[in-house]
Amino acid sequence: MRNYTLNLHLICQLISMSTITKEYEQEKKMNFDPTENQLMIAQTVRDFAEKHIRPQMMEWDESQKFPVEVFRKMGELGLMGILIPSEYGGAGLGYLEYVTAIVEVARVCGSIGLSMAAHNSLCCGHILQFGNEDQKKKWLPKLAAGQWIGAWGLTEANTGSDAMRMRCVAKKDGKDWVLNGAKNWITHGISGDVAVVLARTGELLDSHGITAFVVERKTPGFKAGKKENKLGMRASETAEMIFEDCRIPQENVLGEIGDGFIQAMKVLDGGRISIASLALGIAKGALDAALKYSKEREQFGQPISNFQGISFKLADMATEIEAAELLTLQAADLKNRGKKVTKESAFAKYYASEVSVRAATEAVQIFGGYGYTKDFPVEKFYRDSKLCTIGEGTSEIQKLVIAREILK
Ligand SMILES: Cc1cc2nc3c(=O)[nH]c(=O)nc-3n(C[C@H](O)[C@H](O)[C@H](O)COP(=O)(O)OP(=O)(O)OC[C@H]3O[C@@H](n4cnc5c(N)ncnc54)[C@H](O)[C@@H]3O)c2cc1C
Repeated sequence: MRNYTLNLHLICQLISMSTITKEYEQEKKMNFDPTENQLMIAQTVRDFAEKHIRPQMMEWDESQKFPVEVFRKMGELGLMGILIPSEYGGAGLGYLEYVTAIVEVARVCGSIGLSMAAHNSLCCGHILQFGNEDQKKKWLPKLAAGQWIGAWGLTEANTGSDAMRMRCVAKKDGKDWVLNGAKNWITHGISGDVAVVLARTGELLDSHGITAFVVERKTPGFKAGKKENKLGMRASETAEMIFEDCRIPQENVLGEIGDGFIQAMKVLDGGRISIASLALGIAKGALDAALKYSKEREQFGQPISNFQGISFKLADMATEIEAAELLTLQAADLKNRGKKVTKESAFAKYYASEVSVRAATEAVQIFGGYGYTKDFPVEKFYRDSKLCTIGEGTSEIQKLVIAREILK
């Protein structure tokens, strides 16, 4: 345990000491050579994933177990509050370091990467961006430490891509708000200790008719519903959250009444960088496995990597992964510099998630029959990768966002 705390401390110290980072910030231009911080974070997270995730990930996957204890350990390491400033107990790192950490987790297990991303960029990200000082002090330290797991509820059973039609409603009653309705497909819908919930406070289809509330698990009238039985990402809990006359104090409103939808769109701009990173990590994991296997597996008296049909697949995978990484780092770099990233995060999310599915599919093909079994990791990459084209806005919705931006 002590090692993890020390590692986090070291990371934070390095950030302030790193001349590379300072020079880079001064230059205000893109430089995608990994910084010393990124290299160290990559190694630390890789070691953690090999020790605490890889040995049990198939067991969690089979049983759909959400391994809360791993997230507590990740909290000790600083991975549950990567972007949260140190005054609120976080690691105080930037988006490039965040991308690095998610990639390294997802390279081993997409489920843990997805939960880490939802906790960091959706729940923590929303409170960090739109919470007032009291709210940040109240919730962020526990979330950053991994003592509390965070959830973020926008989607409902009938409103996914078209979130503005949400039915979950909050009505003012005295000093409180009373929440009724349900949110579906919520990462940590059962295990989340606290959730940011978007609910209607105005007219249907009014973009200023939605407000963000922080709801703690113990609040009367807040309960968990059905847990989804999923194709992939099975160790990342996805479940319904139900609100029945759930009374929420005014001080749990994030930002202004009616600003929730606009806030959510901004949160998703950052969130899409995490899904791009998740996709990238899965694609890299699939490529690592395929490279290794293709050099070991022999057919017709030689390694299958000698066949052009296989080596060209590997070349395509590597090229697309490199391009996806550049798009992801571009979005992260802009986000670090406080620029609007709507288009760039959609580029990254759209491209990286499609690349992830293609890379995982080709990896299964390169493994042949073995790829179709649970003895090798590629079938899991194949199942997990598909989520990346769906969660936090499907590929079609990313194209819609990109088209809207370029047609302005
Ligand atoms: C594992 C998992 C975890 C999730 N975690 C969360 C979470 O933590 N919080 C949360 O709020 N949500 C979460 N979601 C929900 C997720 O964001 C939605 O599933 C996603 O936004 C898509 O919505 P939908 O499933 O309702 O699909 P729909 O919106 O019904 O879309 C169905 C199909 O129609 C297409 N489509 C829809 N509209 C258009 C259009 N205008 N043009 C072209 N095509 C269109 C879509 O691209 C898709 O192919 C999660 C989902 C999954 C699977």
